[in-house]
Amino acid sequence: CGIVGYVGSQVASARPLDVVLEGLRRLEYRGYDSAGVALVGPSHDLATAKKAGKLANLVEEIDAHPLPDATAAIGHTRWATHGGPTDLNAHPHVAGKLAVIHNGIVENFAILKAELLAEGVEFLSETDTEVAAQLIARAYGQTGDLTAAMAHVARTLEGTFTLLAVHADDPDTVVGARHDSPLVVGLGEGENFLGSDVAAFIAHTREALELGQDQVVTITPESVEVTDFDGKPAQARRYTVDWDAAA
Ligand code: GLU
Repeated sequence: CGIVGYVGSQVASARPLDVVLEGLRRLEYRGYDSAGVALVGPSHDLATAKKAGKLANLVEEIDAHPLPDATAAIGHTRWATHGGPTDLNAHPHVAGKLAVIHNGIVENFAILKAELLAEGVEFLSETDTEVAAQLIARAYGQTGDLTAAMAHVARTLEGTFTLLAVHADDPDTVVGARHDSPLVVGLGEGENFLGSDVAAFIAHTREALELGQDQVVTITPESVEVTDFDGKPAQARRYTVDWDAAA
């Protein structure tokens, strides 16, 4: 339902976890039933926290079990479509050292899940999203390239999706993809943002890129690269968010 991504620990004022939690607060107006975050950092570990219910439940969980310092973070508020609103079904969904958040519906998840189950993959949730997480992790394992893995899986999925992924071996990168579901990039200096809408990062920057249909974006603290699902360079529309839209 609501999606936030952030990379850029060099900016003293911004802790990735705080940026993402604040972004999720600004997306609360959309409604949701669960919330979660995933962080990657210099220790090459993946850390996640997720909870059914209000964001306050997630914050309480993080206060009780603090997360390590991070260089990149993703956050999600969920509106359940596949699997009830439980802690386990909340996003992010983890596959090895990879975490994924998702807005929308993977229509062909049942057949993809059956194939993965037949290969012995274990699932922790009832969501359509966990299938995407498993597939991206597998593609990353083959290439070591998170952008290529995302593009490959985006070609495989049917339905509607905005997907974000982080991998512990790529702690300065967040990768996103969209198909029939929105994704916007917020352009910073030494930091960059992703959001399901500009509210996710409007407190930090008004310079934005609106991703086109079937595009993949890779953000690091210093770069934003956009491709199509075949990996070819692509253009996204750049604009400045006006004050009215931000109010
Ligand atoms: N279909 C996914 C789920 O049920 C994502 C729902 C959403 O857009 O929040 O977990």
